[in-house]
Amino acid sequence: MLKTLKSFDLKDKRVLIRVDFNVPVENDRVVDDFRIRAALPTIQYCLNEGSKVILMSHSGRPNGIVEQNLSLMPAGEKLADLLEMPIKFSNDCISEDAHDVTLGLRAGEIHLLENLRFHIEENKNDRNFSINLAKHGQVFINDAFGTVHRSHASNVGVTKYFNQKGMGFLIEKELEFLDKAMENPKKPLTVIIGGAKIDSKIDLINRFIQIADQIIIGGGMAFTFLKAKGKDIGKSLLDPSMISEAKKILANARGKTNLIFPKDFICAKSMKAKRTSIRNANEIPSDLMGLDIGPKSIDEFSKIILNSGTILWNGPMGVFEVDGFHMGTEEIAKIISEVTKSGSITIIGGGDSAAAIKKFEMTSNFSHISTGGGSSLSLLSGNTMPAIYALEI
Ligand code: AMP
Repeated sequence: MLKTLKSFDLKDKRVLIRVDFNVPVENDRVVDDFRIRAALPTIQYCLNEGSKVILMSHSGRPNGIVEQNLSLMPAGEKLADLLEMPIKFSNDCISEDAHDVTLGLRAGEIHLLENLRFHIEENKNDRNFSINLAKHGQVFINDAFGTVHRSHASNVGVTKYFNQKGMGFLIEKELEFLDKAMENPKKPLTVIIGGAKIDSKIDLINRFIQIADQIIIGGGMAFTFLKAKGKDIGKSLLDPSMISEAKKILANARGKTNLIFPKDFICAKSMKAKRTSIRNANEIPSDLMGLDIGPKSIDEFSKIILNSGTILWNGPMGVFEVDGFHMGTEEIAKIISEVTKSGSITIIGGGDSAAAIKKFEMTSNFSHISTGGGSSLSLLSGNTMPAIYALEI
């Protein structure tokens, strides 16, 4: 059984919460507080219940080395601003001083621990490190969705030392949209997959072939499928090692779901080229590459989206980071945001799709935007999440 936050008596308890404060920082300031805000409901609930809150997180990949630019201090300052209250901070997560600060906490106070990955033992899921982390709390809550696909000390090892453990509101919400919503989706279900790395999305496509009414495949990965179908793709992105896998998917989908590919592309000689042209999917000249979906594709995809009950989107339709190749992704985002208003369930996987939504300033226009990149992809692909499994009692 997986326990939720509201099932615990938290009054006067030391609640150790694994959060995901892995946020971008420039000049000691947090430049995107999306993940910190996402953790607020859990933190605020614990404070309101009269608990003593200890927060732990990773930041970046310091691999056991103390890198000052990966300190969680700026995240702590941001949190203090958002909550309008002071926060205690320890510059080592398992030092004696840190444990003393925790033991001295009063109800309603917060203690943030320094970056877990300043200790190499975190990623190694080390037993002693887990025991030392566990000393901070009497109740353990995991609310770091971004790392649930990893087996680390702070999300798996630590759970062995708690009788009282469960998930926070953020993980509960992510599971609601990325897991439960997919068991019985409001039909028709349309899955839109894009981005560059086809190998990372094979499992996702194979799973949704069984569930989705249609799967739209855009972005750079579409070209490996088009190549597998015998089309000329010019200089467009191709993963030759995935052509046979793409053929298998095309065969597997027959009679189960509609696989829909772009009919046209915005092409150029390179990502930096100023001159672009619109080409049909089967007519890309040998010196050009497709870098965004074209107007016919946008039109076709929009009609499908307008008729969908649930839309799950993972991966950009083009090189959205470069002006001139962002339109396909932006137009698809706009149409998904429109159908959200009229009652469709719209779910944006984390990573680059979430980054695109942020770039287009549409972060509040969807039913759910996942805070996890790798974790949302892995969960949607049907894998067991070790850090969620570890919370089972
Ligand atoms: P992924 O990590 O697999 O989701 O890939 C995201 C990346 O795919 C983004 O950085 C996009 O710029 C890139 N991308 C999307 N469409 C294309 C394309 N047609 N050609 C090359 N790269 C693309």
